Amino acid sequence: MLTYFKSCVILKVRIIRLWCFFLNFPLSFSQESSFFSEEALRQDVFSPSKAGYLKMLETLQVPVPPFFLIPYLHPFSLEGLQEELLRLQIKSGKVWNDQETGQSGLFVSVRSSFKVSMPGMLDSLLNVGLTFNHALKANKEYLWRSYIKLICHYGKLVEQIDETVFPKISKTATREEAIEFERIFQEHAGYSFPQDANEQLIKAINMVRNSWNNSRAQSYRLHEKISSSSGVDVVIQVMVFGNFNQFSGTGILFTQNPSTGKKEFFGEYSIQAQGEDIVSGGMTPGPLSLLETHLPCAYKTLKDIAEKIDNFFVDMQDIEFTIEQKKVWILQTRPGKRTKTAELRILSRYVAEGVLSMQDALKRLSLNGLEQVYHSYLENLEGLENLGKGLGASPGAIFGILAIRQETVDFLASSGRNIIFAAQETHCDDVACILKASGVITATGGMTCHGAVVTRGLGKPCVTSVQELKVHCDSIEVCGQFFPEGTLLTIDGTTGNIWKGRGALKVPEKCEELEEFLEFSHRVSAIKVYANADTLEDWNAALAFNPEGIGLCRSEHMFFKNTHLPWFQGWILGLQEDLCFSRISALQEEDYTTLLKQLNGKRLTVRLLDPPLHEFLPCTFEAEKTLSHQLEVSLEKIKELASGLKENNPMLGKRGARLGILRPEIYDLQVQSLFKAAERVHKEGIPVDLGIMIPFVTVPEEFTMIKKRILQRAIWHDLTGVIWNVGVMIEIPSSALQASFFAQEADFICFGTNDLTQMILGLSRDDTAYMIEKYQSLGIFSKDPFQSIHESSVGKILSFACETILKINPNISLSVCGEHAGDPESIDFFYSLGIRGVSCSAYRGFKAKLACAKVTLEKDSFLDSSSLKNRQIA
Ligand code: PEP
Ligand code: MG
Repeated sequence: MLTYFKSCVILKVRIIRLWCFFLNFPLSFSQESSFFSEEALRQDVFSPSKAGYLKMLETLQVPVPPFFLIPYLHPFSLEGLQEELLRLQIKSGKVWNDQETGQSGLFVSVRSSFKVSMPGMLDSLLNVGLTFNHALKANKEYLWRSYIKLICHYGKLVEQIDETVFPKISKTATREEAIEFERIFQEHAGYSFPQDANEQLIKAINMVRNSWNNSRAQSYRLHEKISSSSGVDVVIQVMVFGNFNQFSGTGILFTQNPSTGKKEFFGEYSIQAQGEDIVSGGMTPGPLSLLETHLPCAYKTLKDIAEKIDNFFVDMQDIEFTIEQKKVWILQTRPGKRTKTAELRILSRYVAEGVLSMQDALKRLSLNGLEQVYHSYLENLEGLENLGKGLGASPGAIFGILAIRQETVDFLASSGRNIIFAAQETHCDDVACILKASGVITATGGMTCHGAVVTRGLGKPCVTSVQELKVHCDSIEVCGQFFPEGTLLTIDGTTGNIWKGRGALKVPEKCEELEEFLEFSHRVSAIKVYANADTLEDWNAALAFNPEGIGLCRSEHMFFKNTHLPWFQGWILGLQEDLCFSRISALQEEDYTTLLKQLNGKRLTVRLLDPPLHEFLPCTFEAEKTLSHQLEVSLEKIKELASGLKENNPMLGKRGARLGILRPEIYDLQVQSLFKAAERVHKEGIPVDLGIMIPFVTVPEEFTMIKKRILQRAIWHDLTGVIWNVGVMIEIPSSALQASFFAQEADFICFGTNDLTQMILGLSRDDTAYMIEKYQSLGIFSKDPFQSIHESSVGKILSFACETILKINPNISLSVCGEHAGDPESIDFFYSLGIRGVSCSAYRGFKAKLACAKVTLEKDSFLDSSSLKNRQIA
């Protein structure tokens, strides 16, 4: 507790310090500058821009070359610039635009400043203000080199001259070379290179401002979801020269190791060089230790500064520095990019040191890319030939041998080989192959298709919807090229790529810090996180994130097992009904008994059969033959009966509650098996908490009829002491609109947002992935509506339903079990509607758990330290 209070106090002091910068301190920058927008920097406090960080460094008395800022909205004039430049002259002791001064002339860098780092996307120009005469007067190699570079970069960025027209700068830049570069500039620009520093500066400022709209910056913003509505500020800063002489240099320092999170300096250094030489790849820097031997005093100064900056920001910083004649200058600091493991370790250490509370550490943790911590990934792409890209439907990378036919899969599995199972689309018959495969690829199907759902449950990588891919009976075809079974493939279910060849995989080590965050999240989250698990294997895979129970057991997936499928197929076809019924009934009872025992009193929510029956029927000649053999019925008979079950639009056909009404014996069988299992397990002294969920309900009458039948079944069993109830799955708009009925009649309500999205948007969840991607690139969809809830449509109906339900029955359990349940942005939205349960597949549980705790901490204003303590005890 002491640590907790201590860390709160420390954090508050730090926040106050930050505010002091902008509100109370007499800031020379703000008070003197005619361009300064106080409001801009005030907004900068929690997500500072480059200029904001520089300002903080100045106030920390870190040596920063003098600078000023031109906010993007601010029109600027030459007079205004002169005033600012005069200040820079006073601070730096250098002279602007005076050709007689040689190397004591004032030269500046003109760079972009935005609150989100957009590395390499916006343009900047160095050495502005430098002219031929300056270099001539000084006659120093570094100034000739800097002048030549200025001509080159100015030509490229301001005049759009193709940079390849300029020759490579020689090792010893000279006057003659500068004259040659000027000549080339004039030839392509149509005028001679400006020798007026003001002209260079004004053009450079406009160039940086305009770079906001270059195509790479636009695509980067689109990708990173950064609004394009603002623009970019420009920082004008006095140049310092790392290439000045042999006592100079430049480098980058990370205050903590960005790969491992270890508390150690990490970085690179180059003697007698400029930062830009390193960034452009024109020079290979050495390790930071090079500085320690090169200039020990400068190293010591830099180390002290770095510690000060790290301590102040309570975050790992990426610091750009230059040493000019042994003097250390800090050009920039920003939060360093780091691996997810490093991020977790750094935050966890801050908590251990009492610098951050666990709440604040969790609030800071970004969930993007969290998968990196627990899924295997590709170390590099060496030796791989890309065959296409689809949807990353179940994350992780894996290599294996391509197999399409069941016998190939069986053969490879028997010799213990890794298998990549390929299918045009997956069917129930494929489950046996999926179970044996290490990874799955399909040509069609989206994030919620059968293959995607099953592999996610099993935690195996899966790529779906690969447009370039055609799957034939014993080969795959990619853009006219054929790859037979046996080809070695690598797939990445995180990015959706498939390659020919064997990739170098990296299996992440167990990350203890992630466990700490998960454990804390479990205690503080106001939203319970359940697993979507259909089998014992799924449940075991989900245990890693410590779920509250199973929020969705898609019972049909149990029937896909080889042991179950023929009996179930026979039964739905009306063949050997009694035999099939008794077999299925016994198998189901065993399935539920096993699950209930393993859950040991945790919630098990079983959804009664949902998909259209034809999905269970054999879809290949081989499968039909096997079934005919097993049930001793002719192949013709099987074909005839199966064709009778075909539907034109099965997703809107006989499924869910409709099956329960039209083929009541199916639900009767499931309910009876469930009650028998519950009775058995409870008699063994194991607690039981069972939810029976009715899916795909359109109108209240369906629910009433099915619930009545369930209650009648219950009478036949001794369920004393067993916790059980009957809920509804709202996944059709019609049932959402009649939510008031369910609020009164259902014991719990779970939103099936996959089907709800499909029906509200009128968009097939199985084969529109390519279209959604296109819509995203066109800006029609900002995100995939099957992954992140479409708030303006599905969100509105959900909001209506939740409000209606909670008004009538504020204590009812409301949850979501579609794919959106694992998406942090959607979880935020669900929380605002009063939904306090999500159920997602094993691989999404980690992220969901952290996201639920984050939203609780961010939105639960009552959650002070005492209520937190109470929750922890509870
Ligand atoms: C849903 O529709 O959101 C759901 C969970 O059910 P399924 O994906 O099985 O249709
Ligand atoms: Mg559904």
